[in-house]
Amino acid sequence: MAKEEYAIGLDLGGTKILAGLVDRTGRLIARKQLPTHAEEGEKAVIERVLSATHDVLSASGIHPEKVRGVGIASAGVINSDSGEVIFASNLGWRNVPIGTLIGQRFGLPVHLFNDANAAAIAEWLWGAGVGTRNMIYVTVSTGVGAGIVSDGRLVLGRDGSAGEFGHISIDWNGPQCRCGNRGCLENYASGTAIENAVSRKLASMKEPVTDRILVEKGELTAKVISEAALAGDPRFTEIVKQAGFYLGIGAANLIYLFNPEVLVFGGGVMNASALLLPEIEKSMRDRCIPGLANEVRVVTSQIGVEAGVMGAAGGFFENLYCKN
Ligand SMILES: [Zn+2]
Repeated sequence: MAKEEYAIGLDLGGTKILAGLVDRTGRLIARKQLPTHAEEGEKAVIERVLSATHDVLSASGIHPEKVRGVGIASAGVINSDSGEVIFASNLGWRNVPIGTLIGQRFGLPVHLFNDANAAAIAEWLWGAGVGTRNMIYVTVSTGVGAGIVSDGRLVLGRDGSAGEFGHISIDWNGPQCRCGNRGCLENYASGTAIENAVSRKLASMKEPVTDRILVEKGELTAKVISEAALAGDPRFTEIVKQAGFYLGIGAANLIYLFNPEVLVFGGGVMNASALLLPEIEKSMRDRCIPGLANEVRVVTSQIGVEAGVMGAAGGFFENLYCKN
């Protein structure tokens, strides 16, 4: 193994583009963050992605020959083979060949991941999944997603879209989801679901106008709600715990399917992990054959907001794909 190995990770988010140069041990050598400004259109965003990539390379002082490739973590539907973002609502992108564009500009191999898969790689290589061969990373933020490491391989599926955990149905008769299915987990357990549940509750309780203003302005976010719930505000604790209950139902399904050693929960909503994690565990264990669930550890993520960048880069350090 080469002594020095590096890769670049890019996290394409709706609010920010984050680029980082990472070494094999998971050290972030250089990072560059730019605002996405998706409203300025595809071309402008692509230009910023290229410029952030260029900047981390030059800031790191690492010769491009020592860089194994560029990994890209993107939300939405991607095709990792063609390097295309097929559809990403947070970027307003349809069929953008970002992988090809970066490859042409920098002359490096490029691999595209969905963001949950990238974060899963980071947790597996350097975070809460170290030392395991069967780990599932679940992200709970605006939506719900998962990255599955099974028998030491990242499960990508046909085109890199495996792990759409948020769209497994936990109620066949539940509300219609934007995906076409009914009763999808993310309609009960995501940040968006928590915000909606709080809005409904406050409306029914005729709460003081200050809270209603927050809701109307869209400022009663899952983050604000989680903080209030953690502080013991009874209007919010039950709703947050309810989300944990639903996540536990989904987690039980994952255990039956994949027999994992550890379930790692990350994403912004898990800031309330003190409330959520016990609920997740209880609801999961209530639904599993004890022999399957007893040994499963349920933990919070260890890699922070840079998980997307770290994991997208980390994909170049391990042979972790099912396909190859
Ligand atoms: Zn759905």
